[in-house]
Amino acid sequence: MKILIVEDEPAMVELLRYNLESEGFDVVSAHDGEEGLLAVEEEQPDLLLLDWMLPGVSGIELCRRIRRDGKNSALPIIMITARGEEHDRVRGLDIGADDYVTKPFSPAELMARIRALLRRRNPDIGAEKLTVGDVELDLVAYRVRRGERDLHLGPTEFKLLRFFMERAGRVLTRDQLLDGVWGQNVYLEDRTVDVHIRRLRKALNAGDEPDLIRTVRAVGYCFERV
Ligand code: CA
Repeated sequence: MKILIVEDEPAMVELLRYNLESEGFDVVSAHDGEEGLLAVEEEQPDLLLLDWMLPGVSGIELCRRIRRDGKNSALPIIMITARGEEHDRVRGLDIGADDYVTKPFSPAELMARIRALLRRRNPDIGAEKLTVGDVELDLVAYRVRRGERDLHLGPTEFKLLRFFMERAGRVLTRDQLLDGVWGQNVYLEDRTVDVHIRRLRKALNAGDEPDLIRTVRAVGYCFERV
C-alpha cells in the first residue's frame, strides 16, 4: 500500500516516513499543495496524509479538489493539523477528510487510524480470500474460481488478478501494474502487461461471462466491482 504525505515541514515528513516504512508502507511525499495534486495523479496513492497549513494551495483546498475530481474522489484522506479546535475539526470533515489528527500526535495512534481507514475502505486487505463479483481468489490454497468454474492461472496472472482484486473499481495504469506485480526495479515493456492481461482475460472469460477487466483507453485497466 502506498501512502502520500503532503506536508511542508521536512522533520514531520521524515518522522511520518520512518513510521510508515516501519509498518511496511511505501511512502511518497510532496511539499506543497500543487506538488500534492500532481502526486495524487501520478502516484495513485492508497491513502493521503494531508497537512492543513501548506504554502500555496492549502490542505483544505487540496482536499476539496480531490473530492471533486471524479477519478480520485474516493481517496482516503487523513488531515494533520496544529489546530485542535472543534470547528476546525468539523470543517475538515465537512470538506471530505475521512479522519483527523492534531499535532503533536502519537505515531502509534496515527498508524492505528491509517490501518483502520484502509480496512474500512477495503475489507479484503489482509484477508485470506478475496471476492469480487463472482470471482473468488484463495490466497492460502492458491486457487481461483469464477462462479462454479476453477480457473487455472500462471503465477504472473495470479499476482495480476490479486493486485486487480485488491483495487477493484480503480483505474490502474500500466506503470502501476508493472510496479505492483513485477516490482519497481524491473525493466519491462508496457506490452508485457497487455500480454498477461490478455491471458488473464482468456482464463476469466472462458465461460462466456461478462468481461471484468475494462480497458480504459490511453490510461490502463480497471477490474470492475460488479
Ligand atoms: Ca504545515
